[in-house]
Amino acid sequence: MAGAKKRLAVLGSTGSIGRQTLEVVRALPDRFKIVGLAAGSNTTLLERQVKEFRPEFVCYQQGKAHPVFGDYQFLSMEEMATHPQVDTVVIATPGSSGLGPTLAAARMGKNIALANKESLVTAGHIIIREAKLSGARIMPIDSEHSAIWQCLEGEVKPATRLILTASGGAFRGYTPAQLEKVTAEQALKHPSWQMGEKVTIDSATLMNKGLEVIEAHWLFGMPYEDIRVLIHPQSIVHSIVEFIDGSAKAQLSCPDMRLPIQYALTYPERLSNPELPRLNWDTISHLGFEQPDWDTFPCLRLAIEAGKKGGTFPAVLCAADEVAVELFLSHGIKFTQISSLIEQVLSQHQPTAQPSLAEITAADNWARDKVFKLASGDKNPC
Ligand code: MG
Repeated sequence: MAGAKKRLAVLGSTGSIGRQTLEVVRALPDRFKIVGLAAGSNTTLLERQVKEFRPEFVCYQQGKAHPVFGDYQFLSMEEMATHPQVDTVVIATPGSSGLGPTLAAARMGKNIALANKESLVTAGHIIIREAKLSGARIMPIDSEHSAIWQCLEGEVKPATRLILTASGGAFRGYTPAQLEKVTAEQALKHPSWQMGEKVTIDSATLMNKGLEVIEAHWLFGMPYEDIRVLIHPQSIVHSIVEFIDGSAKAQLSCPDMRLPIQYALTYPERLSNPELPRLNWDTISHLGFEQPDWDTFPCLRLAIEAGKKGGTFPAVLCAADEVAVELFLSHGIKFTQISSLIEQVLSQHQPTAQPSLAEITAADNWARDKVFKLASGDKNPC
């Protein structure tokens, strides 16, 4: 189909989602032009991407100049996310670094292909309000939210219930005693998805699913009571939507993030991409669903409770999780301490209702500091 190419800025281009976004762009060269690339510290890969895609702007470590990028124009992520040359911003930066550019893009009325979980989890009340005011469209590129979005297409009445599926992560079926001994290396072996380290650990603790429940609440305006989680180990059914008449729709595909990325980038069209795998119906013998083990994996409950309480609780949850996962990956704490540290930090938090961005940042900083203090054994920090 003829037409102008979509002009994309990819924030977090060297991470897992960023790299897969560029794979989709590479497979559909007539559709997209990369105008901006932003990355944190992986200069080698960013340099290769810049040589291949020839963007107009580069962002390296939040707008610093770097000699390997020569004469390229350096912008901050916020500047890139709001630049008039950019139609669609892919926000694939990790953790709290996604919040600033997501909010900036929402205020500017951009198309936002959103992979960063923390921005909606911590500031959903601000981002959704700003997007409504500006007309910005938020297109999820998480597989579960993309599935729900696809199931809702063409429906004129809202859904009555959302059912998010979860693989169950690396330790599905483990007992609490077994979990005491697991290592970071074991946790990083995800059974069905290829993802970044943080989300793979979050998948093993089920925190990832809890964050996705909060995101679904904001993205689809669904009350927490009407969002369920089911374990589906095959990772083929990516989520299910129920309607008022008792019908349920699900979206099924191979577990490959390039599909939800492509759907967000080409919406409302579906395009043929020979790189994307197809389900082989001859080999699918059954699709299984189980209840989550809420006691063994407390992060799921902690996240949903933080979402329901709202205010600064979700920011504290995200920040505490980010630090606890880093500590686990660097062998500073045990796997089971991730949830216990987060629970302690949440229980000590004095929340602010309807927080501003500054209050969210303050809560985030407080939580990070608190996790470090608790993990290092200082039980009575002032
Ligand atoms: Mg997901």
